[in-house]
Amino acid sequence: MDQNQHAYFEGKIIPFRDAKISIGTHGLNYGTAAFGGVRGYWNDAQKKLYLFRPYDHYKRFLNASKILLMSLPHTPESLTNITLDLLKVDNWQQDVYVRPLCYKADPGIGVRLHDLRDEVSIFAIAFGAYGKNEDGAHVTISSWRRVDDNVIPARGKISGAYANSALIKTDAIRSGFDEALVLDHNGHVSEGTAMNVFMVRDGVLITPPVYDNILEGITRRTIIELAKNELGMDVVERSIDRTETFLCEELFLTGTAAQVMVVNKVDHRQVGDGKLGPITARLRDLFNDVVHGKMEKYNHWNVPVE
Ligand code: PMP
Repeated sequence: MDQNQHAYFEGKIIPFRDAKISIGTHGLNYGTAAFGGVRGYWNDAQKKLYLFRPYDHYKRFLNASKILLMSLPHTPESLTNITLDLLKVDNWQQDVYVRPLCYKADPGIGVRLHDLRDEVSIFAIAFGAYGKNEDGAHVTISSWRRVDDNVIPARGKISGAYANSALIKTDAIRSGFDEALVLDHNGHVSEGTAMNVFMVRDGVLITPPVYDNILEGITRRTIIELAKNELGMDVVERSIDRTETFLCEELFLTGTAAQVMVVNKVDHRQVGDGKLGPITARLRDLFNDVVHGKMEKYNHWNVPVE
């Protein structure tokens, strides 16, 4: 993190190094915070940075803040505008990842959501590839369970819930895997630690429904649209059993950071023929074209930093 860059903090854009909170902050102590993650893609031909679907990201962000009983004086438009101003200040000329956070800002002891001040912060970092999206990942089915909607809702990026993702991820990595899939309380596959999951089974693209304790992913939504519109595929949102991930033809993960990540093994069982499958390959290429502004039809998703 470059301390000389800037952050949005307590209503203003200030030097990153000055954007500091107290160790007593409620959100830090109790996880009463929610975050987002938006990518900016640098278009070298146009010498311009484009944010991918920021309004959709901020809509989900504000939904999560509502779950946490925050009433932020913001709209997806106002948050997008602040992000554009922030990125302009530091004149970014490369791919970036933008991290908005809303948090219960008052210091003090006492777990609750009400009668606490809410704040929003935003910062950006330089960001390239995340994880193995070239040669295929080996994933495990985690022994942890996904947080349930009646425990901590997974449909928004609530900070406290990411202790669940962290437990899952570290066990997977320390056991020699690249990533993990996690089952929900019903034993259905929900998602990865920071990615949604898709499988191709008998030629049909299948992904868990939003009521199987998943994050309502923006990349997931993008992939569903691309598969329907560009590949003319049927996309089915239904629960996925653990063993279906062993038997499907193709398996991949999607996320803002991970983009489209190919999975070629699940718990030592090869997926399909163990290579990048044709549907994953086409969706990955389409996704890359869309975020880099190469498909005019979808350019309304790309918001220029100007
Ligand atoms: N699931 C979880 C748990 C995540 O943290 C993320 C990353 N935001 C995703 C899925 C993918 O969501 P998106 O495509 O909106 O980045």
